[in-house]
Amino acid sequence: MSICTTLPRFEFEYETGKLKAYTSLGSYPLLYLDKSNSVLCPCCANEAENAFTEAEAEDPGQNGFLADGLPVSAHVNYEGDTYCDECSKRIESAYGEND
Ligand SMILES: [Zn+2]
Repeated sequence: MSICTTLPRFEFEYETGKLKAYTSLGSYPLLYLDKSNSVLCPCCANEAENAFTEAEAEDPGQNGFLADGLPVSAHVNYEGDTYCDECSKRIESAYGEND
Protein backbone atom coordinates (compact mmCIF):
# COMPACT_ATOMS: atom_id res chain seq x y z
CA MET A 1 0.00 0.00 0.00
CA SER A 2 1.25 3.45 -0.78
CA ILE A 3 -0.38 6.44 0.75
CA CYS A 4 1.50 9.64 0.16
CA THR A 5 -0.93 12.45 0.52
CA THR A 6 -3.45 13.30 3.13
CA LEU A 7 -6.06 15.65 1.85
CA PRO A 8 -6.86 18.51 4.21
CA ARG A 9 -10.55 17.67 4.26
CA PHE A 10 -12.87 15.35 2.45
CA GLU A 11 -13.99 16.53 -0.91
CA PHE A 12 -17.64 15.99 -1.51
CA GLU A 13 -19.24 15.99 -4.91
CA TYR A 14 -21.06 19.25 -5.25
CA GLU A 15 -24.15 17.91 -6.93
CA THR A 16 -24.68 14.69 -5.02
CA GLY A 17 -23.14 15.39 -1.61
CA LYS A 18 -21.22 12.13 -1.90
CA LEU A 19 -17.61 11.55 -1.03
CA LYS A 20 -15.49 11.81 -4.12
CA ALA A 21 -13.85 8.92 -5.89
CA TYR A 22 -11.33 11.28 -7.49
CA THR A 23 -9.63 14.51 -6.52
CA SER A 24 -11.03 17.56 -8.25
CA LEU A 25 -7.53 18.64 -9.20
CA GLY A 26 -5.86 16.07 -11.43
CA SER A 27 -8.55 13.43 -11.00
CA TYR A 28 -6.41 11.14 -8.84
CA PRO A 29 -8.22 8.13 -7.42
CA LEU A 30 -9.02 8.37 -3.74
CA LEU A 31 -9.24 5.90 -0.91
CA TYR A 32 -10.49 6.50 2.61
CA LEU A 33 -9.34 5.30 6.01
CA ASP A 34 -11.52 4.78 9.03
CA LYS A 35 -10.61 5.24 12.69
CA SER A 36 -8.81 1.91 12.90
CA ASN A 37 -6.93 2.49 9.64
CA SER A 38 -9.06 0.13 7.61
CA VAL A 39 -9.05 1.00 3.92
CA LEU A 40 -12.39 1.96 2.39
CA CYS A 41 -13.07 2.36 -1.31
CA PRO A 42 -15.12 5.48 -2.16
CA CYS A 43 -18.23 3.33 -2.50
CA CYS A 44 -17.89 1.78 0.96
CA ALA A 45 -16.93 5.14 2.46
CA ASN A 46 -20.19 6.56 1.14
CA GLU A 47 -22.13 3.60 2.46
CA ALA A 48 -20.62 4.08 5.90
CA GLU A 49 -21.55 7.77 5.80
CA ASN A 50 -25.09 6.99 4.72
CA ALA A 51 -25.61 4.24 7.27
CA PHE A 52 -24.42 6.52 10.05
CA THR A 53 -26.51 9.48 8.89
CA GLU A 54 -29.66 7.37 8.66
CA ALA A 55 -29.09 5.73 12.03
CA GLU A 56 -28.42 9.09 13.63
CA ALA A 57 -31.67 10.46 12.23
CA GLU A 58 -33.55 7.75 14.10
CA ASP A 59 -31.41 7.34 17.19
CA PRO A 60 -29.17 10.35 17.71
CA GLY A 61 -26.02 9.68 19.69
CA GLN A 62 -26.58 5.92 19.88
CA ASN A 63 -24.48 4.85 16.95
CA GLY A 64 -20.95 4.49 18.22
CA PHE A 65 -20.44 1.27 16.35
CA LEU A 66 -21.35 2.89 13.04
CA ALA A 67 -19.35 5.99 13.92
CA ASP A 68 -16.23 3.82 14.28
CA GLY A 69 -16.63 2.76 10.65
CA LEU A 70 -16.81 6.28 9.30
CA PRO A 71 -14.03 7.47 7.04
CA VAL A 72 -11.74 9.85 8.92
CA SER A 73 -9.24 10.70 6.21
CA ALA A 74 -8.98 10.71 2.44
CA HIS A 75 -5.83 9.83 0.54
CA VAL A 76 -4.70 9.71 -3.04
CA ASN A 77 -3.99 6.13 -4.04
CA TYR A 78 -0.83 6.51 -6.09
CA GLU A 79 0.05 2.88 -6.67
CA GLY A 80 -1.72 -0.38 -7.22
CA ASP A 81 -2.26 -3.28 -4.83
CA THR A 82 -4.56 -1.50 -2.45
CA TYR A 83 -7.76 -3.28 -1.63
CA CYS A 84 -10.86 -2.18 0.21
CA ASP A 85 -11.08 -3.84 3.63
CA GLU A 86 -14.84 -3.76 3.40
CA CYS A 87 -15.69 -5.15 -0.05
CA SER A 88 -12.21 -6.46 -1.04
CA LYS A 89 -12.25 -4.62 -4.33
CA ARG A 90 -9.02 -3.34 -5.76
CA ILE A 91 -8.90 0.42 -5.54
CA GLU A 92 -7.97 2.26 -8.66
CA SER A 93 -4.50 3.76 -8.57
CA ALA A 94 -3.03 6.89 -10.09
CA TYR A 95 0.07 5.36 -11.66
CA GLY A 96 -0.91 2.10 -13.18
CA GLU A 97 -0.80 -1.47 -12.03
CA ASN A 98 2.04 -3.45 -10.57
CA ASP A 99 1.17 -6.88 -11.84
ZN1 LIG B 1 -15.28 -1.15 -0.74
